[in-house]
Amino acid sequence: MDTIITSKDLQNHLDDFRNSQKSIGLVPTMGYLHDGHLSLIRKAKSENDAVVTTIFVNPLQFSETEDLDIYPKDIEKDTFLASDSGSDFLFTPTYEEMFCDDLLTTVSVQELSSVLEGASRPTHFSGVATIVAKLFNIVGVCSAYFGEKDWQQLQVIKRMAQDLSYRVEIKGCPIVREKDGLAMSSRNVYLTNDQRKEASNIPESLWKAHEKIKNGERQSTVIKGIISERLDRSSMIDIDYVELVNGENLTITDEIDELTRVLVAVRVGTTRLIDNMNALEGINL
Ligand code: AMP
Repeated sequence: MDTIITSKDLQNHLDDFRNSQKSIGLVPTMGYLHDGHLSLIRKAKSENDAVVTTIFVNPLQFSETEDLDIYPKDIEKDTFLASDSGSDFLFTPTYEEMFCDDLLTTVSVQELSSVLEGASRPTHFSGVATIVAKLFNIVGVCSAYFGEKDWQQLQVIKRMAQDLSYRVEIKGCPIVREKDGLAMSSRNVYLTNDQRKEASNIPESLWKAHEKIKNGERQSTVIKGIISERLDRSSMIDIDYVELVNGENLTITDEIDELTRVLVAVRVGTTRLIDNMNALEGINL
């Protein structure tokens, strides 16, 4: 695996690949790789001739009160893991490489960005979309792999790619979970042992809700109630939102159907965690 820090260098390598009709898979990340990220790299490798993994802790998607300065990093381990999972290039641009000047151009995907996560993090998705747009432009024609863990992000990026005619195929990949069901996240390291134990209530609440749906319940309010009740049992968990939405346009759904996505965001101490499932498919615990 080659580690590359400039866009020009990456483009030169990728042009060579494309000139010989080879396909490229792109996996954008903020690093501190775990099995969730690695599942994207493996999937990309299984479907393409070459995989580019990017690591860039994107300041645009953090608000002033968020954890940009303390976001976990371990570039040595990441380099080993990315290579071991089949990545051919690791693109680790510096801040200056990505923002040689202050950006005067940004990308925002209206409507999809202002609800759910966007309600409490108003600038988050335009930060994500802007940086992903830059990566798409740097990498060019490719398939890009994103986790369903960040469901809303996946919808925002799909829509951006469609609206702006990117020659990039967006591929959503299933959530990878810890043994107790907690969705893997680089931020899980912030949790104390007690908080980590309590965090397993998040997947359990989704599992319980899905049991009810399997038994025929179709009213969103009932399902929201089951999840909230389960999460409220833990004094360490503060609910930000529990919502049932149309999984594509993210509008609130009263009645559950095959497109319904159940989305949860909570704070455990100061750590914000999110999770989601398809209402009819549920999650594997
Ligand atoms: P991040 O480094 O958190 O920005 O995540 C980079 C990519 O990995 C995004 O597409 C995430 O949705 C995806 N990802 C993060 N955690 C998981 C997980 N537990 N399962 C699947 N994909 C994930």
